[in-house]
Amino acid sequence: MDTEKIEPVVHPKLQHLSKESRNDLYNRFYKEKNSALIIEFGIKENSNLHRLFEPKIIEEACEYCNVFMWKLYPSKSEQKYGGKKICPKCEHTIYPEKSFSWNTQTCTCNNCERIRLEEIRKEQDENERRRLDEHQKIINKLTSQQGDPITLKDLEYYDMICLLAYLKGVEELSSEVSRFHFFRPFSNLTPTDSLKTDIFKLLLKKNALRINLEVDIDVYQDFIEKDNLDALIDSQSLQLNVVSNRELYSECLESVKNELIKAPNNGYLLWKRIGLHECMEYLNVELASIDLPARLGAVTVQLFEELLQYYSVSQLNKITLRVIERAAKDKLSRVSYDKQIANNTVAGIRSYANKGIVEGWYITFDGIPKKYRKEQSLISKVVFNDVLNIKDEGYLKSPNIEDLEIDKSDDERIRSV
Ligand SMILES: [Zn+2]
Ligand SMILES: [Zn+2]
Repeated sequence: MDTEKIEPVVHPKLQHLSKESRNDLYNRFYKEKNSALIIEFGIKENSNLHRLFEPKIIEEACEYCNVFMWKLYPSKSEQKYGGKKICPKCEHTIYPEKSFSWNTQTCTCNNCERIRLEEIRKEQDENERRRLDEHQKIINKLTSQQGDPITLKDLEYYDMICLLAYLKGVEELSSEVSRFHFFRPFSNLTPTDSLKTDIFKLLLKKNALRINLEVDIDVYQDFIEKDNLDALIDSQSLQLNVVSNRELYSECLESVKNELIKAPNNGYLLWKRIGLHECMEYLNVELASIDLPARLGAVTVQLFEELLQYYSVSQLNKITLRVIERAAKDKLSRVSYDKQIANNTVAGIRSYANKGIVEGWYITFDGIPKKYRKEQSLISKVVFNDVLNIKDEGYLKSPNIEDLEIDKSDDERIRSV
């Protein structure tokens, strides 16, 4: 089919001029002043004179309509780029290369808009498809990791300790405490967040817990990509995956105690481990109370691990409090940077405690320091009260194997009192 040619209409303000006069005007427009030209050609228009000029038909068809395009006369300042091309039928516009419009504008004709919309829709579809793929991948990963329900026989000693703490947390969820609006599930499970994360990861790995796969995708993503357990815990999408023919807590506790009789040293290590996290938390609660940064690194861990051989959690809390009071003064008088003061606190605890060991003096204590803001963690309750049966001694004595008496049955213990 032949390309269609549409003739432009001469502007009413130029209709009194012959074709030759108009061409003469268009040629001289770029060299002469408008004010002189409008007088000579009798035109009632001064500004934007070139907009009155009828466009030229050029040998270039519109890519949509099979119509020859028109080329408009540019303004004087845009003359070096040439005029823009426009389709008389669909108004598809091609701006002259490198001109201001070419840099800043896109054609808004119906055809171009339609194509743009199609591209956007295609991209949206593509994104949605990718999102669903990701979703499926995560579900597959979780499904492949999650096994059939297990029994206590599938768990090792420390797994069961973690399970006991988890069960205590579930119990708290259904109790009076959880009715307060500020209550967050498992917020009090462990002294430190790192221990809490370890516990949940271990229970998931051992299949003692599984994830309810019907929960929001973001929760999984946060868990898998950022290791963020909080969202998972808050969504309450964790499910117990242990079967038991008795009440699980007491069955689990019994198994743990049997294990301890076989390996009493584990009880001592457990006491130390909980003690370490209690000390870490106390230090960091105190640091936070005077706006100093947390100290959670290997140096701090090593410090408390060493000192727990000589001191109880309660004594170490007292020492920490003493050193923190000094840090608060340092902070007020701005003797150094916050990070430095926090580091000094850790070093201060070491030298204070070492002095006590060398000089042989005894730090008095009246239980857990009153300034201790948080209530006892669930894992401490489980370990000190139920598993090791040492109650407050867990805090008041330095971890040691002699005080555990785990090789005796309850009957023997009563007789020995
Ligand atoms: Zn067109
Ligand atoms: Zn267009």
